[in-house]
Amino acid sequence: MDRRSFLGGLALAPVTITTLAQAGQDRLFTVSDGSFSLPASMLNRGRKPEEIKAALGGAESYISQLNITVLERAEGFTVFDCGAGANFIPGAGKLMESLKAAGVEAEKVKHLVFTHAHPDHLWGSLDDFGAPAFPNATFHVSQGEYDFWHRKDILNLMPEDRQVFATGAQRHFKELTPVLKQFKPEQEILPGLFAAATPGHTPGHVSYDVKMGSEIITVAGDALTHPILSFAYPEWAGGFDHEADVAAATRKKLLDRLASEKRMMVGYHLPSGGRGRVEKAGAAYRFISG
Ligand SMILES: [Zn+2]
Repeated sequence: MDRRSFLGGLALAPVTITTLAQAGQDRLFTVSDGSFSLPASMLNRGRKPEEIKAALGGAESYISQLNITVLERAEGFTVFDCGAGANFIPGAGKLMESLKAAGVEAEKVKHLVFTHAHPDHLWGSLDDFGAPAFPNATFHVSQGEYDFWHRKDILNLMPEDRQVFATGAQRHFKELTPVLKQFKPEQEILPGLFAAATPGHTPGHVSYDVKMGSEIITVAGDALTHPILSFAYPEWAGGFDHEADVAAATRKKLLDRLASEKRMMVGYHLPSGGRGRVEKAGAAYRFISG
């Protein structure tokens, strides 16, 4: 269960694989799409800068990781989210390289499941030629998420600097149409893979509960994005939460379940491969990384 690094791939870049669980031949782990730095002011909406700074112990910024979960089974791989691709932000877009170094060939990925359609989760779904990055995969998205980004008034719902999120989502989904499957959450969408509605960060956001032997691991996506703010201050609005109140209610429900079941979770933007557990801490919670 330890993190291990080794050299692999053409670039000989060190690749970190974080193992989440192993059950027989099946393995659940994360690899990295890279990372980017977010100023403290972008981590929250509505709180005073000095309040945020105090909560962060004085930190001015956060290195946000991009952790891609991979489920390996004899019949092929399932990958959770696609990373940011080459055109979103410097420091991200390393998924294909990381997968290759981890021994995951793009051709052997059978399913790609999205938590939501923000750029850092969706834009890696197309290669440089605009074709699906995983040529043999079916791509799965919640119906609510697909519908949200296709609303007629979507541009009016987004702040001006995030309208590109909407045009980007529409462009990527359009190219993926022949291999894109929509699902309704609160059901098992693939064997041993339950999609749980965790709305708020986006209206159709889902998390995934993966059954590995007798254990269930939650792939939380962006329901929990920061190791302090999302856990110790779950009622605060995240900087990128579309519906703040809904996201807060989702976080509390999810944190309560993860803590009471002592369940392992993985957060897309959390440190050290995203792996950890949740503990109750007073009236709120604490993230135990590792
Ligand atoms: Zn994200």
